[in-house]
Amino acid sequence: MAESRDPSALDRTEVLRIRNDFPLLAHLVNGKTLVYLDSGATSQNPQSVLEAEQEFYEQRNSAVHRGAHTLAAHATVAFEDARATVAQFVGAREEEIVWTANATAGLNLLAYAFSNASIGDVPAESRRFAVGPCDEIVVTEMEHHANLVPWQELCRRTGAALRYIPVTDAGTLDLDEAARVIGPKTRVLAFTHVSNVLGTINPVAHLVGLARAVGALVVLDACQSAPHLPLDVKALDVDFAVFSGHKMLGPTGIGALYGRQELLDALPPVTTGGSMITTVTMERSGYLPAPQRFEAGTQPVSQAIAMAAAARYLMETGMERIHAREGVLAQRMLEGLRELPGIRLLGPAPGVERAALVAFDVDGVHAHDVGQYLDAQGIAVRVGHHCAQPLHRRFGLTATTRASAYLYTTEDEVDAFLQGVAGVRGFFG
Ligand code: PLP
Repeated sequence: MAESRDPSALDRTEVLRIRNDFPLLAHLVNGKTLVYLDSGATSQNPQSVLEAEQEFYEQRNSAVHRGAHTLAAHATVAFEDARATVAQFVGAREEEIVWTANATAGLNLLAYAFSNASIGDVPAESRRFAVGPCDEIVVTEMEHHANLVPWQELCRRTGAALRYIPVTDAGTLDLDEAARVIGPKTRVLAFTHVSNVLGTINPVAHLVGLARAVGALVVLDACQSAPHLPLDVKALDVDFAVFSGHKMLGPTGIGALYGRQELLDALPPVTTGGSMITTVTMERSGYLPAPQRFEAGTQPVSQAIAMAAAARYLMETGMERIHAREGVLAQRMLEGLRELPGIRLLGPAPGVERAALVAFDVDGVHAHDVGQYLDAQGIAVRVGHHCAQPLHRRFGLTATTRASAYLYTTEDEVDAFLQGVAGVRGFFG
C-alpha cells in the first residue's frame, strides 16, 4: 500500500485543510453548522471524488469492455485503472478485486456462490466450496446483518448449521468460545474486522489461525476497517474480504469483494448474462475467469472510478495517520461521555484500541429522541439498532445512539456533540 511515512496522527492544521476538500461539511443544518458524526453509516466525499465521477461523464462515458471505438477504450482503461487502485488500497492484485454494489452484495455473492457449488453439475474445482448438512458456518454475535443474514440463508438452502462466537460483557469476542465453536465441521468463518456498534477491533490473526487449523475459509467484513486503518488482505491472510465505497469517501452503489485469486477462479458465478462469458450456445455457456466472471451486465463504471479517487485520497493522506487521528478522537468521545451521568457506553474498556465510533444508551431517553434533540443542534448521529439486532439484544437493548468520526472530524465537533448529549436528560427529564 502506498503509505505516508509519518505514523503520527493528523494535526489540527491538516484536519482543517482536509475539511476544505469536503463541500458538504460547510452546510448549515437547521440553521446550525453541520456536525457530521455519522461517517460509520456513510462518509462525505472530497472534491476529487466528485470531480472524478463528473469527469468520467464529461469526457469518457461509454460502455467498457465492449466497444471498438476510442471512447470505449478510454472508459475501459479508466475502469480497470480504478480496479488496480482499489486493489493497491487493500494490498491485493487487481484480478482479485470484483466490483459489487456494496459490501452486502459482496457477502451475498459469496453465500450464493457457495450454494451454487453445492447443487447440480458443477466443475470439480468448485466442489471445494460445497456445503451440506454435515457442515457448519461460523459467524459472530457482533455481526452487521449483512454478514449474518446471507449465511443464515446459505444454511437454509444447504442444510448446513450456523454457529456463532459470543460477545463478552466487555464487548470483545469470547476467544475461548471461538476455539470451541470453530471445529472440524467449520467450512466458513465470517467475521467483522471492526464492529459497527462496539468499535471493537477484532484479532484477525488469531481467528484466521483457528480457521486455518480446521481448513475453513475466512471471510472478512472490512466495511468499518478499510476506511479507517491500514488494511492488507495478504498480510491478514484472509480468503475473502468485502468493503463499500460510500464508507471510505466514495460514492454509493459501488463496493468491492476481494478474493484470493485461485479461489475466485474456482468459485461458481452467481449473476449470469452478458460480459461474463466466453462462448455461448443455445445449450450452455463458458465463463470468463475472475473478476469478469462475477461482473455480469453493465457495471457501475463512474462509481468505480470515483471509489478509486477516494482510495487515492486516503492513501495520500496516509491510513496510519488517519487511524492514529481517530484514536485521539475516540478517546475524547469516550472520556467526555464517561463523565456524563446516565450514559451507558457499549464497547471495549478504556485504553483498549478501538475505532472512532461510540454507541451509547441514555438512561430513560429513547435513542430516537436523543437523535432528534441533537439534530436540532445540527449534530448528525445514527440511532437505532445499526443493523445489529442480535448484538443489541445481547446487551439488553433495542436501540442506541452512535457517534462516528472520520479524518475530517475536529475536536470542536466532538465537544459540541458532548455538550449536546449533556443536555439530553435535562430536556426530556
Ligand atoms: N458490515 C458492516 C460492519 C457495516 O458497518 C455495514 C454498513 O453499515 C455493512 C456491513 C453493510 O454495508 P453496505 O450497506 O454498504 O453494504
